[in-house]
Amino acid sequence: KQQRRLIAVSNRLPIAVDRDDQGQWQLTAGAGGLVTALAPVLKHHQGMWIGWPGCGEEAPLDSLLEGFADKQGYSLATVPLSQEEVREYYEGFSNMTLWPLFHDLLGHCQFNPDHWRTYVEVNRRFADVTAGTVGDNDLIWVQDYQLTLMGVRLRELKVKNPLAFFLHIPFPAPDMFRRLPWKNEIMQGLLSYDLVGFQTLRDRRNFVQCVREMIPNMKADIRRRTSTLHEDGRSVKVGHFPISIDFNEFNRQARSKEVADAAWYLHEKLSRRQLVLGVDRLDYTKGIPERILAFERLLEKYPELHRNITLLQVVVPSRTQVPEYQKLKEELDQLAGRINAQYGEPGWVPIHYIFRSLPREQLLAHYRAAEIALITPLRDGMNLVAKEYCAASVDGNGVLILSEFAGAAEQLGRAALLVNPYDIDGTADAIHRAYHMGAEERRDRMRRLRASVQRNNVHRWVRHFIDSL
Ligand code: UDP
Repeated sequence: KQQRRLIAVSNRLPIAVDRDDQGQWQLTAGAGGLVTALAPVLKHHQGMWIGWPGCGEEAPLDSLLEGFADKQGYSLATVPLSQEEVREYYEGFSNMTLWPLFHDLLGHCQFNPDHWRTYVEVNRRFADVTAGTVGDNDLIWVQDYQLTLMGVRLRELKVKNPLAFFLHIPFPAPDMFRRLPWKNEIMQGLLSYDLVGFQTLRDRRNFVQCVREMIPNMKADIRRRTSTLHEDGRSVKVGHFPISIDFNEFNRQARSKEVADAAWYLHEKLSRRQLVLGVDRLDYTKGIPERILAFERLLEKYPELHRNITLLQVVVPSRTQVPEYQKLKEELDQLAGRINAQYGEPGWVPIHYIFRSLPREQLLAHYRAAEIALITPLRDGMNLVAKEYCAASVDGNGVLILSEFAGAAEQLGRAALLVNPYDIDGTADAIHRAYHMGAEERRDRMRRLRASVQRNNVHRWVRHFIDSL
C-alpha cells in the first residue's frame, strides 16, 4: 500500500516573518512543540503545511518561501488574511468566543455575529486553498479551534481524502456548549471529519454527551480506544490523544553544562531557599492571580517559611492587543508589588516576577533549579509546561503541584500533588506540603512523572493519532 502524504492545516504556519535589524525581511522556521512533532512525519513523505503566515501583505512572501521545501523537507501553502479578518476571525470569534467558552469561562465570552460571519468565511477560504493543493493519496489533518468548520466546506467540494481534526483546547460539558448561539454549526463542523481527537477522556466524553443531547438519532458505539458515532451512513471516530513533548530532547538539553551552570547560578544567588516556579503565557485561563494569592496565603499561614521560599513567576506576553489581557497584566503587577511590599525583607523578595519570554537555556535552567513547580490553570487543554518541568528535572527531586483542571492531570495526577486552583487555602497547604516533603517521596514521585512523560512522548502522540484514522 502506498504511504499517504500528510497535509497539516493550522491557523498559523510554523514560521515567523519579520524584518531584521537592517530592515531586511527574513523568515525563521518555528520551533514549537507541534512543529517538532509533525516535521519528521511531513519530511518523510514530502508533506505540506497550510496556514496563515502571520504577516501583512507587504511582506515579499513568495521570495522568502523560495527554498523552504528544499531546506525543511516539506512545503508550505499560505492563506492570506486581511487585518479585519484577523481581528474578527482570530482575535474575535476564536479568542473572544470559543477560547473562553471551551475553558468554561462564560463571563469572558463575547457573542458577536460579525465575528461569527468572518469565522465562517475564513474557514471556507482555508478549505478552498486546501482543496486546491491536495492530491488523491493525502491525509488532511486540521489543527484546533480556529478551524472547526473546514471539513464542511471540504465535503461540499467533494474532497474524498481522509479528514482528521485535533482540538488542542478542552471541550466543554453540554451546559456550557449550549450557550453558544452557533452550537449547531460548530457541532456539524466537528462531525464533518472522519476522526475527531481530543486531549483527554473527559473532553471526549463531553463531546459525546453534547452529540447525544443535540442529535438524538446519532448512534454511539463507545469503545475504550476510539468510539464511533453513526447517522445516515456517515460515521465519525472520536478518540483522546494527550499531546506531549519531545522528552529526550528536553532531558538531554537540561543535562548540558550551560543549563547546569545557569541553574546553579539561579540557586547560588538565592542560597538555601526553595524555589517555587510558575511559567505561563499571559492568559486568564492560567490562574496566575489565584496562584499569587495562594502564595500570599502561604506566607500568612506559615511565617516560618519567610525568607525560606521564593515564588519565581514567569509570564510570557501574549495577545497584548486585547484589552482583557492588558487588564490582567495590570492586576499581576499590582498583586506582586503589594505582597512584596508587605512581606519583603532586606535580602528576601518573596515574589520574583518576570514579564517576558525566556531563551530556551534559561527556561530549562529555571525548570532544573526549581524545587517546586506550581502549575495551576483554571482550565487547560493539556499544559506542556508541566511535562517540560518533569523532563528537565534531571536531578529527580522536583515536586509538581498541578491543577486538577489541566489536561495533564489525567496522566500525571497520581504522582503530582493535585490542587483546585480556586481553593486558595488548599493550594497554600499543597505548597507547604511540597516544601516539607522528604527526599525519598520527592524522588519516587518524580521518577514516576518522568517515566510517564518519557513513554507518552510527542512522537507517540502523532503515531497514535494517525494510526487511528
Ligand atoms: N515557553 C516559551 N518561552 C518561555 C516560556 C515558555 O516558549 O519563556 C513555552 C513552553 O516551553 C511551552 C509553551 O510555551 O512549550 C506553553 O505551552 P502550554 O501547553 O503550557 O500552554 P499554552 O501557552 O499553549 O496555553
